[in-house]
Amino acid sequence: MTEFSTRSVHGDGHTVPEPASPHTAPIHQTSSFTFPSVRDGVEAFEGSGAYIYTRKGNPTVRALETHLSALESAPVHTSEGLRTPADEVDTLFFTTGMAAISATVLGLGAGGRVVCQGGIYGTTESMVSGLGPFGVDVDLAPVGDLEALRTAVRSGPPPSLVYIETPANPLVQVTDIAEVASIAHEAGAVLAVDSTFATPAIQRPLAWGADLVLHSTTKFIAGHGVVLGGSVSGSTRLLAERIEPLRVRFGGSADPFAAWLTLLGCRTLALRMERHASNAAEIAEFLRSHPKVRRVYHPDPADLPAGQMSAGGPMLSFDVDGGREAALDVVDRLRVITLAPTLGNVDTLVQHPWTMSHAVIPEERRREMGIGPGVLRVSVGIEAAADLIADLAGALEGNSGKGD
Ligand code: PLP
Repeated sequence: MTEFSTRSVHGDGHTVPEPASPHTAPIHQTSSFTFPSVRDGVEAFEGSGAYIYTRKGNPTVRALETHLSALESAPVHTSEGLRTPADEVDTLFFTTGMAAISATVLGLGAGGRVVCQGGIYGTTESMVSGLGPFGVDVDLAPVGDLEALRTAVRSGPPPSLVYIETPANPLVQVTDIAEVASIAHEAGAVLAVDSTFATPAIQRPLAWGADLVLHSTTKFIAGHGVVLGGSVSGSTRLLAERIEPLRVRFGGSADPFAAWLTLLGCRTLALRMERHASNAAEIAEFLRSHPKVRRVYHPDPADLPAGQMSAGGPMLSFDVDGGREAALDVVDRLRVITLAPTLGNVDTLVQHPWTMSHAVIPEERRREMGIGPGVLRVSVGIEAAADLIADLAGALEGNSGKGD
């Protein structure tokens, strides 16, 4: 017999229901795990593999990690046959894309040198550039310039990590992963690739020689704009030895509910990415022939390193004739496309890098990166392409085309 206050905590003593066979992965929303006996607990701490504490591991998080490993290690069909990753693939899931990226850069770069592309996602560039006080030497090579990257890798002490983003944010430049892998490996460095703009549905960097592939799963992988997350996939040994200890000690482990929401996104990824990418290709074609558009940034599959991407991808940017005010006016006139400082949702999103995502970067550096005041970045959604094109046509129509 127990008193009321004990019952309010324990119920009938079975707070954990008997195991059933759920059709979808259940959410193990718990911070810790109990053990059948104290000796099982001792063995868990000795390394039996039993779950102990969610910062160290959780079955829902693990379900997502296993799913992402399966996606990243799916064979790539090329004209020369199938390509697969060199090593057995594992995945670690983090609270955000930045938590995954920082654990990777610190885990592989601490006490050494990192060569990173410059002109990629602004927060990655500023995080990596600020690691000097933590004992990481960083050299930047402009995105889109393979020779500069090769020179940076070969000058000075050999780097321990080469970090690239392809396609890059916001101008969608594509880097040849196989080529960079050979540059990195020749120097004895690990190659990590941020593939957020492509997802494994369109590009699988591990098959092209990369050692690690990273994602802000916040974007197309989760897909619905409701949850933050980040992943690193690659060689099981590299993850276990160099990155997992940082996740446990620095605490970037994600919540089980975030993992569960992301897992839902994975299940429709193939279908969504087909539509995102075909819509983006149609919109890019429309914009290329529009008199009020100076330039369109969207990879043409014909110009891509052979077979690396199965499509140009869901992201594009374009430079509006008339500069900053003209670009802002276009955004104001859009009726279907939403202004939002993110990407990767099912609905089409637009943002103005000059005044938003890249406003923190000095003007001169922004221009150097090719991000002019008229550039708009579009994350293309899965609506009907005709409605998106009509929306952009109407918004561009009102423009006078004057200005910077
Ligand atoms: N990588 C890329 C290419 C991004 O665009 C972003 C965010 O926009 C990140 C990483 C960071 O991801 P998160 O916002 O999930 O930390």
